Amino acid sequence: MIDKTAVSRRIALASIGAGAAGAGVSAMAQGRPPVDLGTVLNGKVLFPPPAASSEVQPSPPRNADAPTQRVGFAIVGLGKLALEQVMPAFAQAKHARPVALVSGSPDKMQAIAAQYGIAADACYSYADMAKLRDNPAVQVVYVITPNALHRQHVVAAARAGKHVLCEKPMAPSLADCHAMIEACRAAGVKLMIAYRMQYQPHAREAIRLARSGALGAVTLMDMINNQNQGDPAQWRQIKALAGGGSLPDVGLYCLNTARAVLGEEPIEVSAQIWSPPGDPRFREVEDNVTFSLRFPSGAIANCMSSYSTHRLARLTLMGSDASATMEHAFDYQGQTLRVSRLTDGKEQAGEIGIEPKNQFALELDHMAQCVRQNITPRTPGEEGAQDQRIMEAIYEAARTGQRVRLAQMPGLDRFRGPEPTAE
Ligand code: NAD
Repeated sequence: MIDKTAVSRRIALASIGAGAAGAGVSAMAQGRPPVDLGTVLNGKVLFPPPAASSEVQPSPPRNADAPTQRVGFAIVGLGKLALEQVMPAFAQAKHARPVALVSGSPDKMQAIAAQYGIAADACYSYADMAKLRDNPAVQVVYVITPNALHRQHVVAAARAGKHVLCEKPMAPSLADCHAMIEACRAAGVKLMIAYRMQYQPHAREAIRLARSGALGAVTLMDMINNQNQGDPAQWRQIKALAGGGSLPDVGLYCLNTARAVLGEEPIEVSAQIWSPPGDPRFREVEDNVTFSLRFPSGAIANCMSSYSTHRLARLTLMGSDASATMEHAFDYQGQTLRVSRLTDGKEQAGEIGIEPKNQFALELDHMAQCVRQNITPRTPGEEGAQDQRIMEAIYEAARTGQRVRLAQMPGLDRFRGPEPTAE
């Protein structure tokens, strides 16, 4: 039987646009029939929720800019990350769009330019990066080349007067990092390092839980990022191009995230490194790395990275009242976040329902907003340099078998800009 009261109540609610962020302007008042829902508020169309307040209310999509209004990005290096993750992510970005390409492979560049509607005269060789200066559509240059080339490409972009987003690891040495920061400072452009974890929603929620006290005092962290490498001839296994092995490639996620959880900077590191003798993949770079970071509050992060064990990416935060575990923590997708605590006298573990979002799109949009609003990125060049400083200490600790003390850096989020906003 139809509950007429409920139906008429639903129609009434719909017609006044109730629940649409309090907009309270009815479709009728906007000259539309009452069944044509949707209230326009600040250029955004908001609908009254069809589900009861006991249900999850999916957040409406963020306001997207018209394509011509978006911040234009030039992509430097058309490799696997650029073509399989970053370029597709522009479709989910709201403020960023690809407008130029830089590559040493004209055939790849032509194919990608055709796919994304990039003009032939916006395709450059590496040697021609200075010409980016003459392309006003390019506001940001995103460097996605092998690690040891980041410095030359970031400096070239800065000299062309463009803001720079640079892949991690920032560079193989602290001297390189400083040169990149200085080049961007001298050119008056922004430099952001692409630490996607600091934009990924599950990781951000884990950080929020740790900092809000929801887990009690977090004193232990465990971070693992392992993968089994293939071809020994790839640039990742060549020290002159990669800078190092599993540490700067995948262990860096553990390091950067451990620093971001509490916002403190470590004061001491200890480490061990082992590579299987005779394995051609480890002629030049290291395989397994375990390292421990001690923070001023007393918290300790145990981290490990591997280039020879099956894929595993997990982080656990251990607090006095609860623990939080993120599976697929450093993967491109598939993250889950579970919190375990005593509830009603029973130990209960529950998954937090977090809407998955494309972390590359969030990262691109953050850079775009930083450029537009003239704010420091959450993960600027100094954040990358601090990781490099600590990775150098990790190598030293492993080589000497001694703990290495780091300079005290009081305060929280010392190297970071403001948190990214939802829009
Ligand atoms: P890739 O090998 O697939 O791509 C590298 C690109 O650089 C290729 O197009 C290659 O042609 C070009 N290149 C230019 N000069 C080169 C040279 N001298 N030697 C080799 N290649 C040269 O690598 P990738 O996986 O796309 O990694 C690129 C960067 O992105 C690295 O810094 C890596 O650490 C980073 N990365 C980040 C993530 C992430 O999740 N944020 C994931 C993968 C890679």
